[in-house]
Amino acid sequence: MKYVLVTGGVVSGLGKGVTASSIGVLLKACGLRVTSIKIDPYLNTDAGTMSPFEHGEVFVLDDGGEADLDLGNYERFLDIKLTRDNNITTGKIYRYVIDKERKGDYLGKTVQVVPHITDAIQEWIERVAKIPVDGEEGPADVCVIELGGTIGDIESMPFIEALGQFSYRVGPGNFCLVHVSLVPVLNVVGEQKTKPTQHSVRGLRGLGLTPNILACRSTKALEENVKAKLSQFCHVPTQNIVTLYDVSNIWHIPLLLKEQKAHEAISKVLNLDGIAKEPSLEEWTARANLCDNLHVPVRIAIVGKYTGLPDAYLSVLKALLHASVARRKKLIVDWVPACDLEKPSEKENPVAYKAAWKLLKGADGILVPGGFGDRGVEGKILAAKYARENRIPFLGICLGMQIAVIEFARSVLGLHDANSAEFVPDTKNPCIVFMPEGSRTHMGGTMRLGSRRTFFHVKDSKSAKLYGSKSFVDERHRHRYEVNPDMVGCLEMAGLSFTGKDETGKRMEVIEIPSHPFFVGAQFHPEYKSRPGKASPLFLGLIAASCGELDELLQSGSVHNHHQSLAGNRPLVDPKSVVYYNGAAKKPPNVLAGVRYNNGGYCNGLYTNRYTHE
Ligand code: GLN
Repeated sequence: MKYVLVTGGVVSGLGKGVTASSIGVLLKACGLRVTSIKIDPYLNTDAGTMSPFEHGEVFVLDDGGEADLDLGNYERFLDIKLTRDNNITTGKIYRYVIDKERKGDYLGKTVQVVPHITDAIQEWIERVAKIPVDGEEGPADVCVIELGGTIGDIESMPFIEALGQFSYRVGPGNFCLVHVSLVPVLNVVGEQKTKPTQHSVRGLRGLGLTPNILACRSTKALEENVKAKLSQFCHVPTQNIVTLYDVSNIWHIPLLLKEQKAHEAISKVLNLDGIAKEPSLEEWTARANLCDNLHVPVRIAIVGKYTGLPDAYLSVLKALLHASVARRKKLIVDWVPACDLEKPSEKENPVAYKAAWKLLKGADGILVPGGFGDRGVEGKILAAKYARENRIPFLGICLGMQIAVIEFARSVLGLHDANSAEFVPDTKNPCIVFMPEGSRTHMGGTMRLGSRRTFFHVKDSKSAKLYGSKSFVDERHRHRYEVNPDMVGCLEMAGLSFTGKDETGKRMEVIEIPSHPFFVGAQFHPEYKSRPGKASPLFLGLIAASCGELDELLQSGSVHNHHQSLAGNRPLVDPKSVVYYNGAAKKPPNVLAGVRYNNGGYCNGLYTNRYTHE
């Protein structure tokens, strides 16, 4: 097993996750099998109890692991399926060591950070690296390990120490350290400054780690003299210094690495010459260029709670993007804060109220993603009502599906107080109820989590057809509440179709209004399994319906799990069509790939739009 460790220096939010995933893509393109591990030095056992406001979305794995969103980047870029153990946290490591201590496994010794914690980290890495994640048997050839945080953080010290020991243990030729750093340009002189990188490399060396490759984030390609300077001061050969300059979308990053021959540098460090073949990235090149040349817009309103932080809905955004690219459309996302749609905000903040409704009404399609807690729920219900009554394509995910059921019960069945027991525990008409297997006292890992099977009961429904008319599908879940089985009968009689159910037939998984152009809700989260080139069926349905192309899509019959070739015969796009962004015709700005913006604009290479209150 060969290991590539990716560390970050100078500042956080450099796009280390995207860089590490792109290195994985490049190595995979060289014919190697690749797996990955993300180390998060925080004390939480996993990301499950962390607020998306702080950390971005919680990514759910097949095995029910609730992980950092970077695992989503790895799964999407490498088309692999990771396990919960591929996300290491300080919490997990300490728990493991303390459990061992309680069992008496340390035989009376004093248990210490060095060697016990550091040994546990190394054992964990070696064990997890061997788990096959690409559907084939046997361990991968290369494991990419990303160390979260920035060099110098107190929290990451035990990991740095462990990784230093680990690199020595696996030996030269088996370990390659890529350090991602920042080369800023000072506006006054316009000069690329190397000092921050020099300092960060010095810090790394001081901790016992030697970088083999420098990946420098910068607005433009590094000047030759700047590379020479970095090489001299950081003791890294110039051919091992790559620039990750700003690109129009993140699919360019693996191409950027290939152009600068990063694969050759890594091959040399890892003794892969003769094993790694010349990388072919045609599919990535086609996709990156296609994405840049899409002009016909499709406008999707995301009605949510965390609309100020697009990372909170990263997989949803990516799934929308995959589907839009598959339909050759330019995705424009309008963020609609659910609370602003609510009646009280008309008085309290009329400008926000008006702006929110304007965005909702201007959208081609509406998406209500998953969520917890009652803030904004009434606004989401209003959005579902608007979509249902005005025949606007609608996709509700998890909570989004639950609120669609509540809305239907209120408006169509006339149960005005219908609600979820999550928000009004003693409601008279609970159409969403607590699931028997949940826990109200322990929040971590106690939901219905991970991959579960959904059986399609209504074969000629849009959702079943979108999934390729298969009898069942496995998707990932994360919920505590479900549709009240006692109310299913009345809802069905009133015209709400439950097209997908679990293996018992008692748990509702997919809803649909057959008479509506596209009104679909899923209790599962289809976004987690969407991939570039293999867009999620329900997202494809939403995008196609939003462009008036759903019939065409359903007739083509090749929706689910077929690789959506980029070389298809669909005409590309009309280059003359104009994208309206914030009300004005605008060219997309050049972006820092992977950088997280808090106030709309570009997010992870994605063109998004958020209204402001002024
Ligand atoms: N809060 C809801 C539940 O627990 C929905 C969860 C979600 O949207 N992920 O069932």
